[in-house]
Amino acid sequence: MKEGGRKQGAMSPCAACKLLRRRCAQDCVFAPYFPADDPQKFASVHKVFGASNVNKMLQELPEHQRSDAVSSMVYEANARVRDPVYGCVGAISSLQQQVDVLQTQLALAQAEVVHMRMRQFTSTHDVDPALASNSGSPSSSRQLMSNSQTKSLFSMDLVVDHANNMGESLWSC
Ligand SMILES: [Zn+2]
Repeated sequence: MKEGGRKQGAMSPCAACKLLRRRCAQDCVFAPYFPADDPQKFASVHKVFGASNVNKMLQELPEHQRSDAVSSMVYEANARVRDPVYGCVGAISSLQQQVDVLQTQLALAQAEVVHMRMRQFTSTHDVDPALASNSGSPSSSRQLMSNSQTKSLFSMDLVVDHANNMGESLWSC
């Protein structure tokens, strides 16, 4: 995060103090994160959270975490301004849906691979003269083919498993 807000001259207030029409003190908590050349950044955060809440949240954090907190508040505020109903939850759930679709595709592809390996396995064993003479061989290959019908059940398990993991990691951050 740029900390050049003050370097433009001690007299020029940061974007927050300018909007709040107050004097920008030397130790202004907003100044490092809300430079005067980006007034919209503070405007949306102020609109959604309120300047005094932003102030409080920043004061409660150690200085090395404030820049990340400001980025996250600006992101949340902009999302809330764009989408007053869902805010950034709208983006999260749309990404979650994409993850679900991709997990399903992945599970289907993995099941396909398993299915193809099984077919390869049976075909190499059919060539084997010891097994080819075995009268049980055609029925065992038919049995393996029927596994393609249980494939959908198998892939459902995979999807649920992965989707849960992804859900947790998305919501915990
Ligand atoms: Zn200030």
